Amino acid sequence: MANKWREHPKLCDRFHPESPDDVQVLVHDGGPRLTDRAPELVWVRVTGADGDLFTGQVLNRPDHLATVSEGAEIQFVAPDGGEYLLLVTQKYLRERPEWLVEACDQCGLSELFDAPSDLMRVVFPDMPDGFRTGMFTAYCGCCGGCQMVRHKDFKLDVEENITAAPQIEPGSLVKKTPGRSKKWWEFWK
Ligand SMILES: [Zn+2]
Repeated sequence: MANKWREHPKLCDRFHPESPDDVQVLVHDGGPRLTDRAPELVWVRVTGADGDLFTGQVLNRPDHLATVSEGAEIQFVAPDGGEYLLLVTQKYLRERPEWLVEACDQCGLSELFDAPSDLMRVVFPDMPDGFRTGMFTAYCGCCGGCQMVRHKDFKLDVEENITAAPQIEPGSLVKKTPGRSKKWWEFWK
């Protein structure tokens, strides 16, 4: 079927009434940790859909963005939480399956504006190349609220750690059982 995206459950109620392939998408240069340029809401003409990933052409000229221009082809998703369709980059799409993103505590957005590896470089600037953390916080690109980001292999055993952490004296050896993941507080050092 031509223009099958018109029936897509995540898009079907978002099209412009007179332009049935056009939707509004929040486009951006990245989130607040990586850029001070605010995101902009532009009209995009959908040209393709691959599952829940959409492709389209930007119809407006963004006022101040450096990475998005009128006529450019972009990819975007419909976040499970949050109000707007959201531009995503190839790098973000590559890394995203590895991470769980908690909905923003203010607007509910459940996607990040930046690839997790780019955010980690900013959150932990002194860490060596290749450093990875199991968990960090991001600022929501829409509203500046807080989003917890957790690697999907990272076990957050809150009950155990709340009781275990205060018992460890400074400088004492923390013994790890084989295969045991780090405690949550070790990742923020
Ligand atoms: Zn938010």
